[in-house]
Amino acid sequence: VTSATKRYNITLLPGDGIGPEIMNIAKDVLSLAGSQEGIEFQFKEMPVGGVALDLTGVPLPEETLSIAKQSDAILLGAIGGYKWDSNEKHLKPETGLLQLRAGLEVFANLRPASVLPQLVDSSTLKREVAEGVDLMVVRELTGGIYFGKPRGFGTNEKGEEIGFNTEVYATYEIDRIARVGFETARKRRGKLCSVDKANVLEASMLWRKRVTAIASEYPDVELSHMYVDNAAMQLIRDPKQFDTIVTNNIFGDILSDEASMITGSIGMLPSASLSDSGPGLFEPIHGSAPDIAGQDKANPLAMVLSAAMLLRYGLGEENAAKKIENAVLETLNRGYRTGDTLSDGKKLVGCKEMGEEVLRSVDSER
Ligand code: ATP
Ligand code: MG
Repeated sequence: VTSATKRYNITLLPGDGIGPEIMNIAKDVLSLAGSQEGIEFQFKEMPVGGVALDLTGVPLPEETLSIAKQSDAILLGAIGGYKWDSNEKHLKPETGLLQLRAGLEVFANLRPASVLPQLVDSSTLKREVAEGVDLMVVRELTGGIYFGKPRGFGTNEKGEEIGFNTEVYATYEIDRIARVGFETARKRRGKLCSVDKANVLEASMLWRKRVTAIASEYPDVELSHMYVDNAAMQLIRDPKQFDTIVTNNIFGDILSDEASMITGSIGMLPSASLSDSGPGLFEPIHGSAPDIAGQDKANPLAMVLSAAMLLRYGLGEENAAKKIENAVLETLNRGYRTGDTLSDGKKLVGCKEMGEEVLRSVDSER
């Protein structure tokens, strides 16, 4: 069966540290999986972070942002390194990442946390609790207490110094992240848990009211609500009860880090950041790992799984996404491990060889 070739423009931002090593692999895996599904990618590589600072004097060159905005999806490696650590704030590589997220208006951050059967011993939890965990945290990324005004320092009536921040959410901000939550749950197991602190905070009371209202658009998704303190506890006690969690910026920051520890391996975890109508940004949750950069030691699987998220959530190419995820599982089944997830009886390989084995697995799914 032949079908018309679909074409997508992808911006590649390898960045710093292990970024370029793992990006090379993700690019090859995307190309191969795509070609098997009648998809052709046009890749454009652009500088961001430390590499952009060295090249252009700024961490996010205008051209990088404009090319990224015009593309169908963006794949990012990692940003930062020792070399630029003492730079002023506006000349820090990480500032480039914040500017990129703001420029793309990505308000929804999706972070899956699954305990793969092959890596269950890497989990920080007991086997019985960890086995079978497969959840997704959908975090609001551009609102809430990190951005709310007023904020700052001042003095109280006793003349003591104070610091203050404001948790603000408008209806449109809650509605759009709620819809991402429901859509995500619909693509998964159809269960959405909204996490808030509606017993104490007004912004959370509105949050709960709007999420409940939006639920009527998604009769096929089962909605529940949970207070954040309970959610933090339940994530450790019985993480299997969760499918998709939707929550605000600060609760999502904390809960997604907590959830990632359940899986035990930072080198395995991808993420997606989505906007309303523009392209999404897809990147591993780990950093640039300067301690192992250039040594062919990095685990490329978080990057490869980010490419799978790009296909699913950025382009709607579910078959190609599945193909890549299955290839990762198959490679682990065949016993290949990088140093960060190595256990007894497994084959230790470097970044490059792991990439080659994933390509072999994709090829064998044909
Ligand atoms: P950030 O850049 O987000 O602040 P960080 O500098 O705190 O992150 P990372 O760069 O993620 O942290 O590195 C933390 C540790 O995990 C380091 O020891 C690093 O070598 C290791 N690490 C990170 N990513 C990988 C990977 N893909 N494969 C193997 N080890 C990794
Ligand atoms: Mg770092």
